[in-house]
Amino acid sequence: MTKYRTAHGGTLRGSDIGNEVQLAGWVARRRDHGGVIFVDLRDASGIVQIVINPENNPAADEVLRSLRNEYCIMVTGLVRPRPDGTTNPEMATGEIEVGVSRLEVLSTSDVLPFQIDERFDADEARRLQYRYLDLRRERMSANLRSRSTAIRAMRRVLDEREFLEVETPTLVVSTPEGARDMLVPSRLRPGQFYALPQSPQLFKQLLMVAGVERYYQVARCYRDEDFRSDRQVEFTQLDLEGSFWDQDDVLETLEAIAAQVVKEVRGIEIPRPIPRMSYADAMARYGTDKPDTRFGMEIEDLGEVFAGSDFRAFAATLDDGGVVRGINAGSQGLSRAGFDKLVADAQDLGAKGLVWMVVEDDGSLRSPVAKFLSDRELADVAAKLDGKPGDALLIVADRREVVGNVLGELRLQLGQPDNHDDLHFLFVIDFPVFEKTPDGGLVPAHHPFTAPLSVEEMRTSPETALSRSYDMVLNGAELGSGSVRIHDPELQAQVFEVLGISAEQAEARFGWFLEALRYGTPPHAGFAIGVDRFISILQNEQNIREVMPFPKTQTGADPLTGAPGRVEEGQLEELGIEVRAEVQATWPELS
Ligand code: ASP
Repeated sequence: MTKYRTAHGGTLRGSDIGNEVQLAGWVARRRDHGGVIFVDLRDASGIVQIVINPENNPAADEVLRSLRNEYCIMVTGLVRPRPDGTTNPEMATGEIEVGVSRLEVLSTSDVLPFQIDERFDADEARRLQYRYLDLRRERMSANLRSRSTAIRAMRRVLDEREFLEVETPTLVVSTPEGARDMLVPSRLRPGQFYALPQSPQLFKQLLMVAGVERYYQVARCYRDEDFRSDRQVEFTQLDLEGSFWDQDDVLETLEAIAAQVVKEVRGIEIPRPIPRMSYADAMARYGTDKPDTRFGMEIEDLGEVFAGSDFRAFAATLDDGGVVRGINAGSQGLSRAGFDKLVADAQDLGAKGLVWMVVEDDGSLRSPVAKFLSDRELADVAAKLDGKPGDALLIVADRREVVGNVLGELRLQLGQPDNHDDLHFLFVIDFPVFEKTPDGGLVPAHHPFTAPLSVEEMRTSPETALSRSYDMVLNGAELGSGSVRIHDPELQAQVFEVLGISAEQAEARFGWFLEALRYGTPPHAGFAIGVDRFISILQNEQNIREVMPFPKTQTGADPLTGAPGRVEEGQLEELGIEVRAEVQATWPELS
């Protein structure tokens, strides 16, 4: 195969018995047994046991004695069956071993900062500092391989459909896509800055104007967001766009991509078509725009049950335009203290309170508030929530958003399975055009280049107007978003206006883009899949860092290289930049 090997150790099987092989890899583990040395030799294909008997081994005794974990070695030997009783059915190569006749150390290793062995946990900051060692772990190399498999599968689907892979610049002008831009100072134009792209959004739209009818890119995106778990300042999207396309064309393409990726990475055929649910439905039934549909426990409206109730807390909420809703959390086996904890959780999530009820064996309801409710109300609640003996029913009365949020969170807390083999994709469609900021302002729910369903509606009732945007959700995580775009410059100007961006401001900031729209822009639509998130779910990883080769901490630091770092005074001078104050990071780096 190469100068260094004739086979990959991890691929050897019973059928190789009797062959002489030359292998190269790392000492994953070394055990000495009665003078004989057993080494787990690891290479990119896996692990194979090699056995070195110093008696018949020409390698100097000293070399053998000094052999340590993570030394890089090359061996020659005979593939042979493991002695009776020592085969290991857990290992792919567990039937055989290699009896070594020649061993050469290609390079030695310093004392390791942590054990590479999967069975030992290491502190994450340390793992990131020595990422090149961390990536030697089986779990991490499997993540890297799956990432490569997934991206290859995406490319294959899109290539077959005659998409063009086009690169777009990473030094761009700042555009409003919702997050803070990462800025790069210009030396030739001191005082001016490039932004790193939050996504290739406007460039891919320009490509549609340019007549590229099918575009995709595995694109690096940058968002200078405040630290939140499971976000990175730098991340990867599978970005795509099509002309003469509508929502269905995008969703059909996404479905083909999702199915191919899951098939190649996990060997699972997903049920098709991927179901669709409106945003309004998702919010009402699951209290979130990214429902985990692996389990039921849906939110039910109890407004009719409690209309005119004698129980003040419910009646007053309904009178004030609020809602009373509940979930059947199933048989949780909670004690009084367990329910008290749920009430506290609901309060932490913003509810004024939480009413709990337990269905008794005779079908009656036990609850601290039962005495305030009529028999009819109790019977109707049990019926509406389909209560069976032992079930815990949880009810919240408040403003619609609060109720959705609280019940949605409790639902996840009480019902979310950890079974990641069950992959539930979902398209959430018909998002609103705008979402409210905490101070009551309106911002685009997607981005300002998204087509509203009706301009009229967007102007007259901006708070409820719908847009032509959609999300892809997998097991309760948002995998990505997209929309049908505005291709009419007049409409684009109107949307800016509703957003409070004046014609002058729009011209100053996006004149170049608005002008492009005036040259025969085709109707177009697109999407971007968050590659890191997608792969982390497929690999059962809790955090996207685990599927990124060289991730950063939550504050955007790289413990391996020390980025971000200071620069020479001369560099700053050239850029016309003066550093006013250096702020020490004091917040937690990882969680
Ligand atoms: N550029 C958008 C984003 O990054 C995706 C899209 O609309 O295609 O969310």
